[in-house]
Amino acid sequence: MSLHDDVEEILLDSETVANRVSELAAELTADYAGRDPVLVSVLKGALVFLADLMRAMDLPSSIDLMEVSSYGGTATESSGLVRIMKDLSASIADEDVLIVEDIIDTGLTLNYLLRYLWERNPASIRICCLLDKPARRLAEIPIDYIGFTIPDRFVIGYGLDYDERYRNLPYIGVLKPSVYGGAPPEG
Ligand code: 5GP
Repeated sequence: MSLHDDVEEILLDSETVANRVSELAAELTADYAGRDPVLVSVLKGALVFLADLMRAMDLPSSIDLMEVSSYGGTATESSGLVRIMKDLSASIADEDVLIVEDIIDTGLTLNYLLRYLWERNPASIRICCLLDKPARRLAEIPIDYIGFTIPDRFVIGYGLDYDERYRNLPYIGVLKPSVYGGAPPEG
């Protein structure tokens, strides 16, 4: 029994993802030339993307990691209320912050995070997300760099999980409905 047996469809294969990550890194290297941005990622989904992106960027950047959890919503609807489980470990005052995110769905998490980070007086904030799922957007988010725009499907792999599994799949795919037994989970 292989992890891959649970995958119904590969949406973006690993080569496609790798090529796009290289393109994004080249764009960021050019745009941030002469500066040393702080890459801020949200655990755990963005880890794989961050690891690949930072190694392809030719910049003296640093990283910081946050962990957040949503609360107050239902199983299918996010409330937009976010609790900080792990805060930044260093000040971002006067720094150029680049938020590196795995996927933006409703946008509520990032909407909260943006306000939270701006209160820490950075010089700038830009957003780089690997996957944009605009169909269910509830909060308008200014995304500066987008890897791929994808349809409204629950995806796993390349850092993204279902019930903490499948993060280590090298591609981005869609699970077989039999894995979650019924309606697909919501982001
Ligand atoms: P938002 O606040 O934009 O609705 O939610 C963003 C977070 O929800 C993402 O960082 C991710 O953790 C989760 N999420 C949204 N869509 C998906 C999806 O298709 N697959 C997985 N695995 N997580 C998702």
